[in-house]
Amino acid sequence: MLNCSICGREVSEKDALKRQGETGSEEIICPYCFKQAVGIDYKTFAYRKENARQIFLAVLFCSMVTVYVFFTKGIIYGLFGVLLTIIVWWFAGKAK
Ligand SMILES: [Zn+2]
Repeated sequence: MLNCSICGREVSEKDALKRQGETGSEEIICPYCFKQAVGIDYKTFAYRKENARQIFLAVLFCSMVTVYVFFTKGIIYGLFGVLLTIIVWWFAGKAK
């Protein structure tokens, strides 16, 4: 068991959130204090972070495919790929 650096309550290892404190030492933060500090609970935060990561990977993948087809199939397919990338990025932004 760990103790929250802010409120002092006990947190299990898996629920504990660690961050670098202002003094440079590591702080342990419980999900409750996280919510107080950030305004959203940790699950929502983690979900958004995961979502952002997936969007990033999808856009990255589309860009790589775009570059690939641009060189192998020509500029028309390349432009199509660019369009596809923009669509993916746009929809991902809307889905939030
Ligand atoms: Zn706390």
